[in-house]
Amino acid sequence: MQTYAPFIAGSFMPWTGETLPGIDPTTGAEWSRIARCDASTADRAIRDADRAFHTGPWAIASPEERADYLDRIAETLETRWPELVESEIRDNGKRITEARAQFAGLHGWFRHFATEVRKLGPAPQANSVPGVHSTSHLMPFGVVVAITPWNSPLMILAWKLAPALAAGNTVVVKPSELASASTLEFARLVSQTGLPPGVLNVVTGLGHEVGEALVRHPLTRKVSFTGSDAGGRKVAEAASNGVIPAVLELGGKSAQVVFADCDIENAVNGVMSGIFLSNGQTCVAGSRLIVEDSLKETFVSRLIARARNLRFGDPMMPDTQLGPLANEPHLRKVAAMIEHAKADGAICLLDGRETAAGHSGFYLGPTVFDRVTPDMRLWREEVFGPVLAVATFRTEDEAVAQANDSDYGLAAGVWTSDPDKGARVAGAIDAGTVYINHYRSVDPASPIGGVKHSGYGRELGPDAIKEFCQVKSVWTGTAPVPDPFP
Ligand code: NAD
Repeated sequence: MQTYAPFIAGSFMPWTGETLPGIDPTTGAEWSRIARCDASTADRAIRDADRAFHTGPWAIASPEERADYLDRIAETLETRWPELVESEIRDNGKRITEARAQFAGLHGWFRHFATEVRKLGPAPQANSVPGVHSTSHLMPFGVVVAITPWNSPLMILAWKLAPALAAGNTVVVKPSELASASTLEFARLVSQTGLPPGVLNVVTGLGHEVGEALVRHPLTRKVSFTGSDAGGRKVAEAASNGVIPAVLELGGKSAQVVFADCDIENAVNGVMSGIFLSNGQTCVAGSRLIVEDSLKETFVSRLIARARNLRFGDPMMPDTQLGPLANEPHLRKVAAMIEHAKADGAICLLDGRETAAGHSGFYLGPTVFDRVTPDMRLWREEVFGPVLAVATFRTEDEAVAQANDSDYGLAAGVWTSDPDKGARVAGAIDAGTVYINHYRSVDPASPIGGVKHSGYGRELGPDAIKEFCQVKSVWTGTAPVPDPFP
Protein backbone atom coordinates (compact mmCIF):
# COMPACT_ATOMS: atom_id res chain seq x y z
CA MET A 1 0.00 0.00 0.00
CA GLN A 2 1.46 3.27 -1.14
CA THR A 3 0.91 6.39 1.00
CA TYR A 4 1.38 9.74 -0.71
CA ALA A 5 2.36 12.87 1.21
CA PRO A 6 2.00 16.45 -0.04
CA PHE A 7 4.90 17.78 -2.10
CA ILE A 8 5.96 21.18 -0.77
CA ALA A 9 9.15 23.22 -1.23
CA GLY A 10 10.91 20.52 -3.23
CA SER A 11 10.20 17.44 -1.11
CA PHE A 12 7.46 15.25 0.28
CA MET A 13 6.58 16.58 3.71
CA PRO A 14 6.34 14.02 6.52
CA TRP A 15 2.62 13.32 6.92
CA THR A 16 1.00 12.02 10.08
CA GLY A 17 -2.41 13.59 9.56
CA GLU A 18 -5.62 12.17 8.14
CA THR A 19 -5.60 10.32 4.84
CA LEU A 20 -8.07 9.49 2.08
CA PRO A 21 -8.22 6.22 0.13
CA GLY A 22 -7.13 5.73 -3.48
CA ILE A 23 -9.50 3.14 -4.92
CA ASP A 24 -8.65 1.02 -7.96
CA PRO A 25 -11.83 1.06 -10.10
CA THR A 26 -10.91 -2.22 -11.79
CA THR A 27 -11.26 -4.12 -8.52
CA GLY A 28 -12.90 -1.69 -6.11
CA ALA A 29 -9.96 -2.29 -3.73
CA GLU A 30 -7.97 0.38 -1.93
CA TRP A 31 -4.45 0.57 -3.37
CA SER A 32 -3.08 3.81 -1.87
CA ARG A 33 -3.75 6.63 0.52
CA ILE A 34 -3.29 10.37 0.06
CA ALA A 35 -2.98 13.13 2.63
CA ARG A 36 -6.21 14.89 3.54
CA CYS A 37 -4.64 18.34 3.70
CA ASP A 38 -6.41 21.21 5.36
CA ALA A 39 -6.11 24.99 5.39
CA SER A 40 -2.87 24.90 7.38
CA THR A 41 -1.10 22.77 4.73
CA ALA A 42 -2.57 24.98 2.03
CA ASP A 43 -1.12 27.99 3.84
CA ARG A 44 2.30 26.37 4.04
CA ALA A 45 2.31 25.47 0.34
CA ILE A 46 1.19 28.93 -0.76
CA ARG A 47 3.77 30.63 1.48
CA ASP A 48 6.56 28.42 0.12
CA ALA A 49 5.43 29.10 -3.43
CA ASP A 50 5.34 32.82 -2.67
CA ARG A 51 8.85 32.67 -1.19
CA ALA A 52 10.14 30.89 -4.31
CA PHE A 53 8.50 33.56 -6.44
CA HIS A 54 10.21 36.42 -4.60
CA THR A 55 13.59 34.97 -3.62
CA GLY A 56 16.10 32.45 -4.97
CA PRO A 57 16.96 31.33 -8.47
CA TRP A 58 13.41 31.30 -9.87
CA ALA A 59 12.78 34.91 -8.84
CA ILE A 60 15.68 36.14 -10.98
CA ALA A 61 15.42 33.62 -13.85
CA SER A 62 15.18 35.26 -17.26
CA PRO A 63 12.62 33.96 -19.78
CA GLU A 64 15.51 32.11 -21.47
CA GLU A 65 16.46 30.45 -18.17
CA ARG A 66 12.83 29.52 -17.49
CA ALA A 67 12.70 27.99 -20.95
CA ASP A 68 15.79 25.94 -20.03
CA TYR A 69 14.02 24.65 -16.90
CA LEU A 70 11.01 23.65 -19.04
CA ASP A 71 13.29 21.92 -21.54
CA ARG A 72 14.86 19.93 -18.71
CA ILE A 73 11.39 18.86 -17.53
CA ALA A 74 10.59 17.87 -21.13
CA GLU A 75 13.82 15.84 -21.41
CA THR A 76 13.01 13.93 -18.24
CA LEU A 77 9.41 13.27 -19.29
CA GLU A 78 10.45 12.17 -22.75
CA THR A 79 12.31 9.17 -21.38
CA ARG A 80 10.72 8.56 -17.98
CA TRP A 81 6.98 9.00 -18.70
CA PRO A 82 6.38 5.22 -18.38
CA GLU A 83 7.05 5.60 -14.63
CA LEU A 84 3.85 7.67 -14.34
CA VAL A 85 1.39 5.47 -16.15
CA GLU A 86 0.46 2.88 -13.55
CA SER A 87 -0.40 5.31 -10.76
CA GLU A 88 -2.95 7.08 -12.94
CA ILE A 89 -4.54 3.88 -14.23
CA ARG A 90 -4.86 2.56 -10.68
CA ASP A 91 -6.68 5.73 -9.66
CA ASN A 92 -8.99 6.36 -12.62
CA GLY A 93 -9.05 3.18 -14.72
CA LYS A 94 -7.83 4.90 -17.89
CA ARG A 95 -6.97 2.31 -20.54
CA ILE A 96 -3.26 1.76 -20.91
CA THR A 97 -3.34 2.54 -24.64
CA GLU A 98 -4.90 5.94 -23.91
CA ALA A 99 -2.62 6.57 -20.94
CA ARG A 100 0.49 5.74 -22.96
CA ALA A 101 -0.60 8.02 -25.79
CA GLN A 102 -1.20 10.93 -23.38
CA PHE A 103 1.93 10.39 -21.33
CA ALA A 104 4.29 9.83 -24.24
CA GLY A 105 3.21 13.30 -25.41
CA LEU A 106 3.52 15.06 -22.03
CA HIS A 107 6.99 16.38 -22.80
CA GLY A 108 5.63 18.14 -25.89
CA TRP A 109 3.55 20.65 -23.89
CA PHE A 110 6.66 21.73 -21.94
CA ARG A 111 8.83 21.85 -25.07
CA HIS A 112 6.24 23.99 -26.86
CA PHE A 113 5.94 26.61 -24.13
CA ALA A 114 9.73 26.70 -23.70
CA THR A 115 9.95 27.67 -27.37
CA GLU A 116 7.12 30.17 -27.05
CA VAL A 117 8.51 32.01 -24.03
CA ARG A 118 11.82 32.53 -25.81
CA LYS A 119 9.90 34.61 -28.38
CA LEU A 120 8.23 36.90 -25.82
CA GLY A 121 9.72 40.20 -24.72
CA PRO A 122 8.80 43.84 -24.11
CA ALA A 123 6.68 45.20 -26.95
CA PRO A 124 6.73 48.87 -28.03
CA GLN A 125 3.38 50.64 -27.73
CA ALA A 126 2.22 53.01 -30.48
CA ASN A 127 1.19 55.94 -28.27
CA SER A 128 0.26 59.39 -29.53
CA VAL A 129 1.83 61.41 -26.70
CA PRO A 130 4.72 63.61 -27.88
CA GLY A 131 8.08 63.38 -26.08
CA VAL A 132 7.57 59.98 -24.53
CA HIS A 133 7.72 56.37 -25.62
CA SER A 134 6.11 53.43 -23.94
CA THR A 135 6.47 49.69 -23.83
CA SER A 136 4.37 46.75 -22.62
CA HIS A 137 6.02 44.22 -20.32
CA LEU A 138 4.64 40.84 -19.32
CA MET A 139 4.78 40.13 -15.58
CA PRO A 140 3.97 36.84 -13.90
CA PHE A 141 1.14 36.95 -11.37
CA GLY A 142 2.98 35.20 -8.53
CA VAL A 143 1.42 32.13 -6.95
CA VAL A 144 -0.94 30.29 -9.30
CA VAL A 145 -3.32 27.69 -7.90
CA ALA A 146 -4.00 24.90 -10.42
CA ILE A 147 -6.99 22.67 -9.60
CA THR A 148 -7.44 19.56 -11.72
CA PRO A 149 -10.09 16.83 -12.18
CA TRP A 150 -9.75 13.04 -12.09
CA ASN A 151 -10.26 12.16 -15.73
CA SER A 152 -6.85 13.17 -17.18
CA PRO A 153 -4.95 14.67 -14.24
CA LEU A 154 -1.49 14.84 -15.77
CA MET A 155 -2.35 16.02 -19.26
CA ILE A 156 -4.57 18.76 -17.86
CA LEU A 157 -1.86 19.68 -15.35
CA ALA A 158 0.65 20.03 -18.21
CA TRP A 159 -1.71 22.46 -20.00
CA LYS A 160 -1.63 24.69 -16.91
CA LEU A 161 1.85 24.13 -15.54
CA ALA A 162 3.92 24.57 -18.72
CA PRO A 163 2.57 28.05 -19.64
CA ALA A 164 2.32 29.15 -15.98
CA LEU A 165 5.99 28.33 -15.36
CA ALA A 166 7.04 29.75 -18.72
CA ALA A 167 5.46 33.03 -17.59
CA GLY A 168 7.52 32.96 -14.36
CA ASN A 169 4.84 32.06 -11.80
CA THR A 170 5.13 29.49 -9.06
CA VAL A 171 2.37 26.89 -8.82
CA VAL A 172 0.44 25.02 -6.15
CA VAL A 173 -1.48 22.09 -7.63
CA LYS A 174 -4.58 20.54 -6.06
CA PRO A 175 -5.36 17.34 -7.97
CA SER A 176 -8.69 15.56 -7.57
CA GLU A 177 -9.02 13.63 -4.34
CA LEU A 178 -10.11 10.72 -6.56
CA ALA A 179 -6.90 10.62 -8.63
CA SER A 180 -3.94 12.36 -7.00
CA ALA A 181 -1.22 9.73 -7.27
CA SER A 182 0.05 10.47 -10.79
CA THR A 183 0.43 14.18 -9.96
CA LEU A 184 2.57 13.28 -6.93
CA GLU A 185 4.66 10.85 -9.01
CA PHE A 186 5.04 13.65 -11.56
CA ALA A 187 6.25 16.03 -8.82
CA ARG A 188 8.79 13.39 -7.76
CA LEU A 189 10.15 13.22 -11.32
CA VAL A 190 10.18 16.96 -11.85
CA SER A 191 12.01 17.51 -8.55
CA GLN A 192 14.93 15.64 -10.13
CA THR A 193 15.23 18.15 -12.97
CA GLY A 194 16.71 20.96 -10.88
CA LEU A 195 13.53 23.05 -10.68
CA PRO A 196 14.06 25.26 -7.60
CA PRO A 197 12.14 24.19 -4.46
CA GLY A 198 8.77 25.88 -4.06
CA VAL A 199 8.21 26.45 -7.79
CA LEU A 200 5.96 23.37 -8.05
CA ASN A 201 3.98 22.18 -5.03
CA VAL A 202 1.19 19.62 -4.72
CA VAL A 203 -1.35 19.46 -1.91
CA THR A 204 -4.05 16.82 -1.81
CA GLY A 205 -7.44 16.48 -0.21
CA LEU A 206 -11.03 17.57 -0.64
CA GLY A 207 -12.06 20.49 -2.81
CA HIS A 208 -14.20 22.27 -0.24
CA GLU A 209 -11.48 21.86 2.39
CA VAL A 210 -8.02 22.38 0.93
CA GLY A 211 -9.02 23.48 -2.59
CA GLU A 212 -11.10 26.37 -1.36
CA ALA A 213 -8.43 27.32 1.21
CA LEU A 214 -5.90 27.63 -1.61
CA VAL A 215 -8.19 29.82 -3.69
CA ARG A 216 -9.06 32.03 -0.72
CA HIS A 217 -5.45 32.43 0.44
CA PRO A 218 -4.40 36.11 0.43
CA LEU A 219 -1.12 35.32 -1.37
CA THR A 220 -2.83 33.47 -4.24
CA ARG A 221 -2.75 35.62 -7.36
CA LYS A 222 -4.40 33.53 -10.06
CA VAL A 223 -6.51 30.38 -10.30
CA SER A 224 -6.72 27.91 -13.13
CA PHE A 225 -9.54 25.43 -12.58
CA THR A 226 -10.67 22.42 -14.56
CA GLY A 227 -13.64 20.48 -13.29
CA SER A 228 -17.41 20.45 -13.05
CA ASP A 229 -19.52 23.56 -13.41
CA ALA A 230 -20.67 23.12 -9.79
CA GLY A 231 -17.04 23.18 -8.60
CA GLY A 232 -16.25 26.02 -11.00
CA ARG A 233 -18.98 28.24 -9.58
CA LYS A 234 -17.62 27.79 -6.04
CA VAL A 235 -14.08 28.50 -7.19
CA ALA A 236 -15.19 31.57 -9.15
CA GLU A 237 -17.06 32.88 -6.11
CA ALA A 238 -14.07 32.35 -3.81
CA ALA A 239 -11.68 33.89 -6.36
CA SER A 240 -13.87 36.93 -6.92
CA ASN A 241 -13.93 37.50 -3.19
CA GLY A 242 -10.17 38.03 -3.26
CA VAL A 243 -10.28 39.84 -6.64
CA ILE A 244 -8.30 36.96 -8.13
CA PRO A 245 -8.66 36.20 -11.86
CA ALA A 246 -9.71 32.64 -12.65
CA VAL A 247 -9.79 30.54 -15.79
CA LEU A 248 -12.62 28.02 -15.66
CA GLU A 249 -12.55 24.93 -17.88
CA LEU A 250 -15.82 23.22 -17.07
CA GLY A 251 -18.17 20.56 -18.34
CA GLY A 252 -19.93 20.06 -21.63
CA LYS A 253 -22.85 18.48 -23.46
CA SER A 254 -21.27 18.60 -26.87
CA ALA A 255 -23.28 18.01 -30.03
CA GLN A 256 -22.29 15.81 -32.97
CA VAL A 257 -24.27 17.13 -35.95
CA VAL A 258 -24.37 14.46 -38.65
CA PHE A 259 -25.74 15.34 -42.11
CA ALA A 260 -27.05 12.71 -44.53
CA ASP A 261 -24.32 13.62 -47.04
CA CYS A 262 -21.48 12.65 -44.66
CA ASP A 263 -18.98 9.84 -45.12
CA ILE A 264 -20.87 7.45 -42.86
CA GLU A 265 -17.95 5.26 -41.78
CA ASN A 266 -15.90 8.33 -40.95
CA ALA A 267 -18.74 9.89 -38.97
CA VAL A 268 -19.44 6.67 -37.05
CA ASN A 269 -15.76 6.55 -36.07
CA GLY A 270 -15.86 10.20 -35.01
CA VAL A 271 -19.05 9.84 -32.97
CA MET A 272 -17.72 6.64 -31.34
CA SER A 273 -14.46 8.34 -30.43
CA GLY A 274 -16.39 11.35 -29.14
CA ILE A 275 -18.56 9.45 -26.68
CA PHE A 276 -16.99 6.06 -25.99
CA LEU A 277 -13.25 6.79 -25.71
CA SER A 278 -12.38 6.96 -22.02
CA ASN A 279 -15.95 5.76 -21.42
CA GLY A 280 -17.26 9.23 -22.14
CA GLN A 281 -15.28 10.64 -19.22
CA THR A 282 -13.86 13.48 -21.25
CA CYS A 283 -14.91 17.10 -21.16
CA VAL A 284 -15.44 17.19 -24.93
CA ALA A 285 -17.52 13.98 -24.96
CA GLY A 286 -19.88 14.28 -27.95
CA SER A 287 -22.85 13.20 -25.90
CA ARG A 288 -25.69 14.51 -28.11
CA LEU A 289 -25.97 12.93 -31.57
CA ILE A 290 -28.10 15.20 -33.75
CA VAL A 291 -28.50 13.24 -36.97
CA GLU A 292 -30.42 14.05 -40.17
CA ASP A 293 -33.72 12.21 -40.13
CA SER A 294 -33.15 10.32 -43.40
CA LEU A 295 -29.83 8.86 -42.13
CA LYS A 296 -30.90 8.11 -38.57
CA GLU A 297 -31.81 4.40 -38.84
CA THR A 298 -28.70 3.46 -40.86
CA PHE A 299 -26.35 5.55 -38.76
CA VAL A 300 -27.60 4.53 -35.34
CA SER A 301 -27.77 0.83 -36.18
CA ARG A 302 -24.16 0.86 -37.42
CA LEU A 303 -23.07 2.72 -34.34
CA ILE A 304 -24.84 0.32 -31.99
CA ALA A 305 -23.45 -2.75 -33.79
CA ARG A 306 -19.94 -1.39 -33.20
CA ALA A 307 -20.54 -0.19 -29.63
CA ARG A 308 -22.19 -3.45 -28.52
CA ASN A 309 -19.08 -5.43 -29.42
CA LEU A 310 -16.44 -3.33 -27.68
CA ARG A 311 -14.30 -5.52 -25.41
CA PHE A 312 -14.44 -4.92 -21.66
CA GLY A 313 -11.27 -5.72 -19.77
CA ASP A 314 -8.49 -4.79 -17.42
CA PRO A 315 -7.34 -1.26 -18.32
CA MET A 316 -3.73 -2.42 -17.88
CA MET A 317 -4.11 -4.80 -20.86
CA PRO A 318 -3.42 -3.26 -24.28
CA ASP A 319 -6.25 -5.14 -26.03
CA THR A 320 -8.93 -3.78 -23.65
CA GLN A 321 -11.37 -1.45 -25.39
CA LEU A 322 -13.52 -0.53 -22.38
CA GLY A 323 -12.14 -0.16 -18.88
CA PRO A 324 -14.16 0.64 -15.76
CA LEU A 325 -15.67 4.01 -14.93
CA ALA A 326 -13.33 5.94 -12.67
CA ASN A 327 -15.02 5.54 -9.30
CA GLU A 328 -18.05 4.12 -7.59
CA PRO A 329 -20.00 7.33 -6.91
CA HIS A 330 -19.57 8.16 -10.58
CA LEU A 331 -20.84 4.71 -11.63
CA ARG A 332 -23.91 5.29 -9.49
CA LYS A 333 -24.42 8.75 -11.01
CA VAL A 334 -24.23 7.43 -14.58
CA ALA A 335 -26.59 4.55 -13.75
CA ALA A 336 -29.02 7.03 -12.18
CA MET A 337 -28.94 9.16 -15.33
CA ILE A 338 -29.86 6.07 -17.38
CA GLU A 339 -32.85 5.56 -15.10
CA HIS A 340 -33.87 9.21 -15.42
CA ALA A 341 -33.71 8.99 -19.21
CA LYS A 342 -35.98 5.91 -19.17
CA ALA A 343 -38.40 7.57 -16.79
CA ASP A 344 -38.45 10.68 -18.98
CA GLY A 345 -39.58 8.57 -21.95
CA ALA A 346 -36.38 8.28 -23.99
CA ILE A 347 -36.03 4.94 -25.81
CA CYS A 348 -33.08 2.88 -24.62
CA LEU A 349 -31.49 1.15 -27.62
CA LEU A 350 -28.44 -0.13 -25.76
CA ASP A 351 -28.09 -0.35 -21.98
CA GLY A 352 -24.48 -0.44 -20.83
CA ARG A 353 -25.45 -1.83 -17.45
CA GLU A 354 -26.66 -5.00 -19.18
CA THR A 355 -23.60 -5.43 -21.41
CA ALA A 356 -21.32 -4.87 -18.39
CA ALA A 357 -23.19 -7.35 -16.18
CA GLY A 358 -20.85 -9.94 -14.70
CA HIS A 359 -17.83 -7.68 -14.64
CA SER A 360 -16.76 -6.87 -11.11
CA GLY A 361 -15.30 -3.40 -10.63
CA PHE A 362 -17.00 -0.20 -11.78
CA TYR A 363 -17.91 -1.27 -15.33
CA LEU A 364 -20.67 0.22 -17.45
CA GLY A 365 -20.76 -0.09 -21.24
CA PRO A 366 -21.86 2.10 -24.15
CA THR A 367 -25.44 3.23 -23.75
CA VAL A 368 -27.61 4.78 -26.46
CA PHE A 369 -30.96 6.53 -26.05
CA ASP A 370 -33.21 7.49 -28.95
CA ARG A 371 -35.88 10.20 -29.05
CA VAL A 372 -34.23 12.38 -26.50
CA THR A 373 -35.88 15.78 -26.33
CA PRO A 374 -34.53 19.08 -24.97
CA ASP A 375 -36.75 18.97 -21.89
CA MET A 376 -35.10 15.74 -20.68
CA ARG A 377 -32.27 15.65 -18.17
CA LEU A 378 -30.23 13.49 -20.53
CA TRP A 379 -30.25 16.33 -23.05
CA ARG A 380 -29.43 19.09 -20.58
CA GLU A 381 -27.08 17.54 -18.01
CA GLU A 382 -23.53 16.34 -18.42
CA VAL A 383 -23.33 12.59 -17.70
CA PHE A 384 -19.56 12.28 -18.12
CA GLY A 385 -20.07 8.65 -19.04
CA PRO A 386 -20.65 6.49 -22.15
CA VAL A 387 -24.26 7.57 -22.64
CA LEU A 388 -25.31 8.96 -26.02
CA ALA A 389 -28.52 10.92 -26.52
CA VAL A 390 -29.92 10.76 -30.08
CA ALA A 391 -32.23 13.30 -31.73
CA THR A 392 -33.02 14.03 -35.37
CA PHE A 393 -33.38 17.10 -37.60
CA ARG A 394 -34.72 17.88 -41.05
CA THR A 395 -33.16 21.25 -41.90
CA GLU A 396 -29.79 22.86 -41.33
CA ASP A 397 -31.38 25.59 -39.19
CA GLU A 398 -33.06 22.97 -37.04
CA ALA A 399 -29.72 21.17 -36.60
CA VAL A 400 -27.99 24.35 -35.44
CA ALA A 401 -30.87 25.30 -33.13
CA GLN A 402 -30.74 21.86 -31.48
CA ALA A 403 -26.96 21.94 -31.13
CA ASN A 404 -27.23 25.33 -29.44
CA ASP A 405 -30.10 24.27 -27.19
CA SER A 406 -27.75 23.62 -24.28
CA ASP A 407 -26.48 25.46 -21.24
CA TYR A 408 -23.01 24.29 -22.21
CA GLY A 409 -20.76 25.22 -25.13
CA LEU A 410 -17.47 23.37 -24.97
CA ALA A 411 -17.13 21.48 -28.26
CA ALA A 412 -19.11 20.20 -31.24
CA GLY A 413 -18.61 18.05 -34.33
CA VAL A 414 -20.08 18.59 -37.81
CA TRP A 415 -20.11 15.72 -40.32
CA THR A 416 -20.81 16.57 -43.96
CA SER A 417 -19.20 16.21 -47.36
CA ASP A 418 -20.23 19.79 -48.23
CA PRO A 419 -17.39 22.13 -47.12
CA ASP A 420 -19.58 25.26 -47.31
CA LYS A 421 -22.23 23.68 -45.12
CA GLY A 422 -19.54 22.47 -42.71
CA ALA A 423 -18.11 25.98 -42.39
CA ARG A 424 -21.57 27.57 -42.07
CA VAL A 425 -22.71 25.22 -39.33
CA ALA A 426 -19.38 25.42 -37.49
CA GLY A 427 -19.75 29.21 -37.54
CA ALA A 428 -23.29 29.07 -36.18
CA ILE A 429 -22.64 26.64 -33.33
CA ASP A 430 -22.05 28.30 -30.00
CA ALA A 431 -19.01 26.40 -28.67
CA GLY A 432 -15.36 27.02 -27.86
CA THR A 433 -14.19 24.36 -30.33
CA VAL A 434 -15.92 22.97 -33.41
CA TYR A 435 -14.48 20.07 -35.38
CA ILE A 436 -15.53 19.44 -39.00
CA ASN A 437 -15.23 15.79 -40.15
CA HIS A 438 -12.91 15.22 -37.22
CA TYR A 439 -13.15 15.03 -33.44
CA ARG A 440 -11.22 15.45 -30.23
CA SER A 441 -7.72 16.62 -31.27
CA VAL A 442 -5.82 18.97 -28.96
CA ASP A 443 -2.57 20.76 -29.64
CA PRO A 444 -0.53 23.36 -27.75
CA ALA A 445 -1.02 25.81 -30.62
CA SER A 446 -4.82 25.60 -30.50
CA PRO A 447 -6.79 27.31 -27.70
CA ILE A 448 -9.37 25.28 -25.81
CA GLY A 449 -12.13 26.46 -23.54
CA GLY A 450 -15.84 26.96 -23.41
CA VAL A 451 -18.71 29.38 -23.68
CA LYS A 452 -21.83 29.56 -21.49
CA HIS A 453 -21.62 27.14 -18.54
CA SER A 454 -18.54 25.46 -20.01
CA GLY A 455 -16.47 28.24 -18.51
CA TYR A 456 -14.37 31.22 -19.45
CA GLY A 457 -10.79 31.95 -20.37
CA ARG A 458 -8.75 29.72 -22.64
CA GLU A 459 -5.94 27.24 -22.19
CA LEU A 460 -3.25 26.51 -24.76
CA GLY A 461 -2.96 28.45 -28.01
CA PRO A 462 -0.86 31.51 -28.86
CA ASP A 463 -2.00 33.44 -25.75
CA ALA A 464 -1.52 30.65 -23.21
CA ILE A 465 1.54 32.21 -21.58
CA LYS A 466 -0.07 35.66 -21.59
CA GLU A 467 -3.06 34.16 -19.76
CA PHE A 468 -0.63 33.63 -16.85
CA CYS A 469 0.82 37.18 -17.11
CA GLN A 470 -0.20 40.68 -16.21
CA VAL A 471 0.78 43.53 -18.48
CA LYS A 472 2.77 46.49 -17.24
CA SER A 473 3.09 49.69 -19.29
CA VAL A 474 6.38 51.55 -18.88
CA TRP A 475 6.51 55.17 -20.10
CA THR A 476 9.88 56.83 -20.70
CA GLY A 477 10.13 60.59 -21.25
CA THR A 478 12.41 61.64 -24.08
CA ALA A 479 11.80 65.41 -23.80
CA PRO A 480 11.85 67.80 -20.81
CA VAL A 481 8.68 67.78 -18.71
CA PRO A 482 6.97 71.17 -19.16
CA ASP A 483 6.17 73.24 -16.08
CA PRO A 484 2.60 72.16 -15.17
CA PHE A 485 1.80 75.61 -13.68
CA PRO A 486 3.35 78.10 -16.09
P1 NAD B 1 -15.03 18.49 -9.69
O1 NAD B 1 -15.53 19.87 -9.95
O2 NAD B 1 -15.78 17.63 -8.77
O3 NAD B 1 -13.54 18.55 -9.12
C1 NAD B 1 -12.49 19.14 -9.86
C2 NAD B 1 -11.44 19.63 -8.89
O4 NAD B 1 -11.97 20.72 -8.15
C3 NAD B 1 -11.02 18.59 -7.85
O5 NAD B 1 -9.64 18.72 -7.60
C4 NAD B 1 -11.83 19.00 -6.63
O6 NAD B 1 -11.27 18.58 -5.43
C5 NAD B 1 -11.80 20.50 -6.77
N1 NAD B 1 -12.89 21.22 -6.09
C6 NAD B 1 -14.17 20.84 -5.94
N2 NAD B 1 -14.85 21.77 -5.23
C7 NAD B 1 -13.98 22.75 -4.94
C8 NAD B 1 -14.08 23.99 -4.23
N3 NAD B 1 -15.21 24.38 -3.64
N4 NAD B 1 -12.98 24.77 -4.13
C9 NAD B 1 -11.81 24.38 -4.71
N5 NAD B 1 -11.65 23.22 -5.38
C10 NAD B 1 -12.73 22.41 -5.50
O7 NAD B 1 -14.85 17.79 -11.12
P2 NAD B 1 -14.41 16.29 -11.42
O8 NAD B 1 -15.58 15.40 -11.15
O9 NAD B 1 -13.10 16.00 -10.78
O10 NAD B 1 -14.13 16.36 -12.98
C11 NAD B 1 -15.10 16.13 -13.95
C12 NAD B 1 -15.56 17.44 -14.54
O11 NAD B 1 -14.45 18.12 -15.10
C13 NAD B 1 -16.54 17.25 -15.68
O12 NAD B 1 -17.56 18.20 -15.55
C14 NAD B 1 -15.71 17.54 -16.91
O13 NAD B 1 -16.44 17.97 -18.03
C15 NAD B 1 -14.78 18.59 -16.39
N6 NAD B 1 -13.58 18.69 -17.24
C16 NAD B 1 -13.44 19.80 -18.02
C17 NAD B 1 -12.35 19.90 -18.88
C18 NAD B 1 -12.16 21.11 -19.77
O14 NAD B 1 -11.06 21.30 -20.31
N7 NAD B 1 -13.16 21.95 -19.94
C19 NAD B 1 -11.39 18.89 -18.91
C20 NAD B 1 -11.58 17.78 -18.08
C21 NAD B 1 -12.68 17.69 -17.24
